[in-house]
Amino acid sequence: MPKDPEQFRATLLAYVETLRRTGRRSIRLWPGWRQALRSISIPRQEGISESLSAAQASLPQEAGPPQESIPNSLSRPSTGSPEPTDREERVRRLEALRQATAGCRRCAHLAGSRSQIVFGVGNPHARLLFTGEAPGAEEDRQGEPFVGPAGKLLTRMIQAMGLQREDVYIANILKCRPDLPPGTPGNRKPTPGEMETCLPYLREQIDIIRPEVIVALGATALEGLTGLRTGISTMRGTFLDFQGIPLLPTFHPSYLLYRPDLRLKRQVWEDLLLVMKRLNLPISERQRGFFLIPSQG
Ligand code: SF4
Repeated sequence: MPKDPEQFRATLLAYVETLRRTGRRSIRLWPGWRQALRSISIPRQEGISESLSAAQASLPQEAGPPQESIPNSLSRPSTGSPEPTDREERVRRLEALRQATAGCRRCAHLAGSRSQIVFGVGNPHARLLFTGEAPGAEEDRQGEPFVGPAGKLLTRMIQAMGLQREDVYIANILKCRPDLPPGTPGNRKPTPGEMETCLPYLREQIDIIRPEVIVALGATALEGLTGLRTGISTMRGTFLDFQGIPLLPTFHPSYLLYRPDLRLKRQVWEDLLLVMKRLNLPISERQRGFFLIPSQG
């Protein structure tokens, strides 16, 4: 709890005033502030006292659990930090969408062949969202995107950025595994029509999460999101736009597994460095040097 009530009151008033000017209608109360707010008197001041009085009135008698913080470098800056109500709202909306998706039969052939929907996984207020094209066999079995060998590589890529898988959000354009004739091994590329049919779900996920950057993994994901068939080699490393959010295409991790070439790895890593820069994430000298090709001379 702040030691000086006057200083605390001034700080709180300034904080509320800032929120009021930016149109915010609720305030985030840290545990110490909850206690202190109960003990201060609120001056009558237009537009502020009402907010604080309402905040006082809504305080629980017992201090609740500490506010969750986002313990990593992907935390949104305090000025853009989601309100607890906003956080709960995102979780609620994502869950409602997940349930709506679970019974989807828009593509009858996929609804008949899937084991389950592979909705998406991760932080509901992630600043970074990765999307691939469609679930594979392992994803279909587990109900989670990117859990097969390519998914494991994606997890290592995320960790190389100094993050954890739980910090970001991971999804696919298609929520059902593209079907194959029984007994056929491997995976099939989703068709443009299938992606178009399912895309509204990803659009809604993005609308709820509001990430600051989206990474499209592979040419099919890029095509599904933008309609571009220019090729991933040409488009990678260039920020595009998707629903007003910067979209960076890069190679799919499965391509890196298929072609374990240091140059390709470096290209993908350079794309991720661009993302880190865009998100103002710290980049160490060591990180800058990942997958650099040793000079011949
Ligand atoms: S792929 Fe998408 S649109 Fe098609 S059935 Fe599955 S969830 Fe529905």
